[in-house]
Amino acid sequence: MDCLFCKIINGEIPSKKVFESEDVFAFCDIAPQSPVHILVVPKVHIESVDAIDEDNSRYVSKIFEAIPKIAQDAGLKSGYRVISNCGDDACQSVKHLHFHILGGTKLSEKMG
Ligand code: AMP
Repeated sequence: MDCLFCKIINGEIPSKKVFESEDVFAFCDIAPQSPVHILVVPKVHIESVDAIDEDNSRYVSKIFEAIPKIAQDAGLKSGYRVISNCGDDACQSVKHLHFHILGGTKLSEKMG
């Protein structure tokens, strides 16, 4: 499968890894939109939020169990934002489920 994030997970494409477990991988975004900008992905290929179902939702649980640890390690003591773009209207550019962790500064109130 020709998936950028699958290639990052298996080491074919280098990344700045910040967290790894059996099911979850997290790395720094290559074009950060805030001082801290981390992407958290399941190691299994799930296309987007729209493809989450009862067979794969445990990977999403694992991601959300990891996020507080990743945020703490990144020094995000006063908060952070978690975003997942899903589909064309949300400008999802990589079709492998991922959650952006944004922080390290006071973020805009606007999200849309
Ligand atoms: P999205 O637009 O929500 O699909 O987010 C995809 C994100 O992947 C963007 O924020 C990109 O900057 C990021 N990205 C693309 N290629 C790489 C890469 N090789 N390493 C790290 N992040 C990447």
